[in-house]
Amino acid sequence: MPIDPVCGMNVHETQPENESFYKGIKYYFCSAFCREEFDRDPGAYMYTGPDESEADYHGESIDSED
Ligand SMILES: [Zn+2]
Repeated sequence: MPIDPVCGMNVHETQPENESFYKGIKYYFCSAFCREEFDRDPGAYMYTGPDESEADYHGESIDSED
């Protein structure tokens, strides 16, 4: 199942309008919004490991002050 590189969601239903090519690789997005974000700056969404500056809104920051 493809993963939306912008928001990290699994893309259950791929739609042609929500696909984009970058450097010969096809990427899938959950919505036109994410695709537009990607198209604006594709290099920012390449898989280079966890990107803490971008991943915060996805709840991936570990906050263990329990
Ligand atoms: Zn998305």
